[in-house]
Amino acid sequence: MKKNDTFEIEIEDVSVNGEGIGHFDGMTFFVKGAIPGDRALCGVTKLKKKYGFARVIEILEPSKDRVTPKCDMAGRCGGCQIMQMDYKAQLSMKEHLVREKLLRIGGFSREKIDQVMEPIVGMETPYHYRNKAQYPVGCDKDGNLIMGFYGPHSHRIVESDRCYLGTDVNEEIKEIIKSSGVSAYDEESHRGLLRHVLIRKGFFTGEVMVCFIVNAKDENAAVKGLCDRLIPPLSKVEGMKSICVNFNDKVGNVILGKKTICVWGQDYITDTIGEVAFHISAPSFFQVNPYQTKKLYDKALEYASLTGEETVWDLYCGIGTISLFLAQKAKRVYGVEVVPEAIENAKENAGLNGMENAEFFVGKAEEVLPEFYSKGTIHGEKILDGEEDLKCPDVIVVDPPRKGCDEACLNTMVSMKPERIVYVSCDPATLARDLKYLCENGYDLKEVTPVDQFAHSMHVESVVKLIRQ
Ligand code: SAH
Repeated sequence: MKKNDTFEIEIEDVSVNGEGIGHFDGMTFFVKGAIPGDRALCGVTKLKKKYGFARVIEILEPSKDRVTPKCDMAGRCGGCQIMQMDYKAQLSMKEHLVREKLLRIGGFSREKIDQVMEPIVGMETPYHYRNKAQYPVGCDKDGNLIMGFYGPHSHRIVESDRCYLGTDVNEEIKEIIKSSGVSAYDEESHRGLLRHVLIRKGFFTGEVMVCFIVNAKDENAAVKGLCDRLIPPLSKVEGMKSICVNFNDKVGNVILGKKTICVWGQDYITDTIGEVAFHISAPSFFQVNPYQTKKLYDKALEYASLTGEETVWDLYCGIGTISLFLAQKAKRVYGVEVVPEAIENAKENAGLNGMENAEFFVGKAEEVLPEFYSKGTIHGEKILDGEEDLKCPDVIVVDPPRKGCDEACLNTMVSMKPERIVYVSCDPATLARDLKYLCENGYDLKEVTPVDQFAHSMHVESVVKLIRQ
């Protein structure tokens, strides 16, 4: 076989990147644009020894789950991977994915998995759910400013009139910027000014923020010119509360630079999750799907089974979202997070909600927790004074990034012997790995609920409850 050869294939499964998986001629093929149940005519795009990649030339027999994507750009834009799959089928596929990881990586039996798995929590409306958009800016071949999303695995900007994941205010803001005549950044020559535009919208407050990421070290005449052109029309957009500029003059893929200034309004917007309000600044991490986040945090709170008497640790706490959600029902909550600005936000948010029972510490969970457990200090500072029982909290909640928890963190968690551990995860594979460790070290897996935060993409979150045996 060689590149561009064509062949017919039945799609049996789906890869973590959303490609259809099938077999032909003793090889496994990853087929872009195909979904399980499709029979397709494909063309080879890349060959390795035992597997290859292919693209669909023609769907010969569509899967029963195949639908016409709402968005004309599906397949060309890298934002969605599986919009051609019926939403219900997406949900069962994600649930299946979590089960398979628990089985293959976690080493749990099928019977155990059947016992603990709850049905996936899907969205009521799987469109326009994102509260944040980050558009790369560039030029088309005639030199006009374009804004959109990158194509799959590329830096080619794909424009669409209306993205079905974001909010309509994004389109309004895009139009203002596109017709303003400001200078777009060119990645190849590293020239031009406007690199990216970040838009956030508070779903429950209606507040809007725009942040221009510019190719400049600091404020200069060009940045001032951009602000002069854009602030008047943008400040009139309904809900606009904050216009910021972030400076990034470095070559490369990192979007945000270190410095952000506010050029109109305030430097944050406010949004709420349930009863809790949060200040969100341009560089802060905030969950992108507010409706599903509420369901995710409610589940975490339910699994924590708080009565008001508990001491809780929230590791990987970001701006304190889960911590403050838990603080409503706990005696005290300690949050740990590696990004200092996020901890600043977390402290501010505790104040904003009048919560005095939450404390936040900057540092790596795998360093802060062991130090606290062995010495009662954090960064050498005494935290405990004759309160040794706090070394054994009632509940530990973790919400790590994709790579999961460090073993030093898991090890200390186990030593601290909390009655319950709640694990919030954005990666089923590392979740399964960490659950294996915890269950080999004194914990029993009680409940697993996948929550779909990202319709039309392959991502899936899960909330898990473990109790001490
Ligand atoms: N619980 C928060 C944030 C979850 S995202 C929320 O729901 O909004 C994961 C967070 O872990 C990020 O804020 C990231 O900065 C932080 N993080 C990454 N590695 C870490 C580490 N080793 N120790 C502590 N925090 C870490």
